[in-house]
Amino acid sequence: MTGLYDSFQRPVNYLRISVTDRCNLRCIYCMPEDGVPLMSHDDILSYEEIYTIARAAAGMGIEKVRLTGGEPLVRIGLPVLVEMLAGIPAIDEISLTTNGTLLAEHAAELKAAGLKRINISLDTLKPERFKEITRRGTLEDTLKGITAAQDAGLEPVKLNTVVIAGVNDDEIPDFAARTVNDGWHVRFIELMPFAGKKSAGSGFVPVSDMRQRLEKLGKLEPVLHTTGNGPAKYYRLPGAKGTIGFITPVSEHFCYRCNRLRLTADGKLRPCLMSDREIDLKTALRGGATMTGLKRLIEQAVAAKPRNHHLAEGDIPKWRTFSQIGG
Ligand code: SAM
Ligand code: SF4
Repeated sequence: MTGLYDSFQRPVNYLRISVTDRCNLRCIYCMPEDGVPLMSHDDILSYEEIYTIARAAAGMGIEKVRLTGGEPLVRIGLPVLVEMLAGIPAIDEISLTTNGTLLAEHAAELKAAGLKRINISLDTLKPERFKEITRRGTLEDTLKGITAAQDAGLEPVKLNTVVIAGVNDDEIPDFAARTVNDGWHVRFIELMPFAGKKSAGSGFVPVSDMRQRLEKLGKLEPVLHTTGNGPAKYYRLPGAKGTIGFITPVSEHFCYRCNRLRLTADGKLRPCLMSDREIDLKTALRGGATMTGLKRLIEQAVAAKPRNHHLAEGDIPKWRTFSQIGG
């Protein structure tokens, strides 16, 4: 077998890189209103350091990289990093997850630098509600970002929508209508508990519920998406150009096909989103580790991937919020 495999024979070919813990929004399900204590600039990996780690990982079997945050576009010069990563021969796809608010000014440059695909988080189509959910942003900016991404040819643009009971679950049909009328690709995500919160709480809507509501609009035909590396299952409403995806981290975990590692902005490799276990690459890198040394640490992280998370038993990560890991 070539490539990277964990202890459960799962291939690991995907690295999510958080380039910053900073964010210009404060989404109610991700960050406390006052934010979280920020990493110091010295703690955050430089682009050169990220590149070195990506090169080591690519030499072992990582083929796909996703940039995330915090909000990745608040970090200056992101297209420079995209271009550096695009120059690593073994990496065949670079993608980005963003809240879209700053995308209008960067989409074309990102595409030119080698970005292939983009996921934009959007939880509501109502301007007032957008302000309530994000506590900072405007819907208009994110919509402009979506259009800019489409115009730049970053297709398919996928939208990530976290569904929360009593907050935005009444908009499930509105998002579904956009898959029919505007060809949008919308992925509905179950609300996950985050650090500091014991459970997803009363806002949790299982995907089975979302499906029931959508099936009132028409039969959901399964679709094989060729552009996904992740856990979503895709469907199409009759006559729709766009698709509806479901991501079920809570009700139906997809750990059995987990293919990923996560690199935090301060240089820790996390074998699992839902576990606090981390392998420190930054200290090794700054201490002069060789490529071989880095690869050994990456192997350790792969070997430490658990079989599955234990959310159902109330075992949730305590040290970092999703904004500090990258989702
Ligand atoms: N700032 C970027 C964005 O919002 O797309 C990237 C980082 S954000 C942490 C990555 C993804 O995590 C987003 O799609 C967001 O909706 C999702 N996320 C954050 N907190 C979540 C939670 N409690 N449950 C489910 N998804 C969550
Ligand atoms: Fe920021 Fe993304 Fe978290 Fe919202 S979900 S607070 S945009 S990191």
